[in-house]
Amino acid sequence: MKAVVFEKHGGPEVLEYEDVPEPNAGPGEVLIQVKATSINHIDIFLRRGMPGIKVPLPKIVGSDAAGIIREIGPDVSGLEVGQRVTINPGISCGRCEFCAAGFGGQCTSYAMVGENRDGAYAELVAVPAHIVLPIPDSVSFEEAAAAPLVFLTAWSMMVTKGNIRPGEDVLILGAGAGVGTAAIQIAKMTGCRVFAAASTDEKLESSPASAASMSSWIISGPIPGSAVCDRRAAAAACSPAAQQRASLRRPICGRFSFVKFR
Ligand SMILES: [Zn+2]
Repeated sequence: MKAVVFEKHGGPEVLEYEDVPEPNAGPGEVLIQVKATSINHIDIFLRRGMPGIKVPLPKIVGSDAAGIIREIGPDVSGLEVGQRVTINPGISCGRCEFCAAGFGGQCTSYAMVGENRDGAYAELVAVPAHIVLPIPDSVSFEEAAAAPLVFLTAWSMMVTKGNIRPGEDVLILGAGAGVGTAAIQIAKMTGCRVFAAASTDEKLESSPASAASMSSWIISGPIPGSAVCDRRAAAAACSPAAQQRASLRRPICGRFSFVKFR
């Protein structure tokens, strides 16, 4: 099969489109004929290499996949050859103390499709059956492949760790990016009042923050909790002093972050 592979770390020039052996569906796995995948920053991090993290090479990255089940391995039930599916790229065991407590992202054997095993920049990808999700005919392969990793990340930050609640005010930074786009939709679904910030007007206008259904969004002006949301203050809102002033709950600061005011 054809796949995008890199055998050494570096820039985009290390990516090779070449023939590689086809994977098989092992016990508990299914083989998906990939119709669409997506591009995430983790692909770039892995290609460049990250300090302290050893990436087995050669590597096929790509954490999101949507396609058709081509083969079903032993000990798999509930799925059929020919079914349209996507995947949850985070693989947790479901049995350790963290999984039992609902924190699958902290699983002692946590792995990611496209990082700890080969990913979906390929015609075929083999994945554990328990991460496979059927998709309805009304959802295109492209739409199905665009959602998983960004929503997985945003859900972990906002719901699992941030514990957002209806009626709360949520400021989402990086609102034009994938994780920010997902975070806005999760916050709206939860019933939060959403404030969104992005580094440029163009990014903000392309995000769900600009949709008419948005309950509230601002680029500049006062925000409850004594912080101010403009392009400079949005970054400053992540400073320890600003967090303290705003009584932030479990703030997670960084490029793809959200902060919540109460
Ligand atoms: Zn686990």
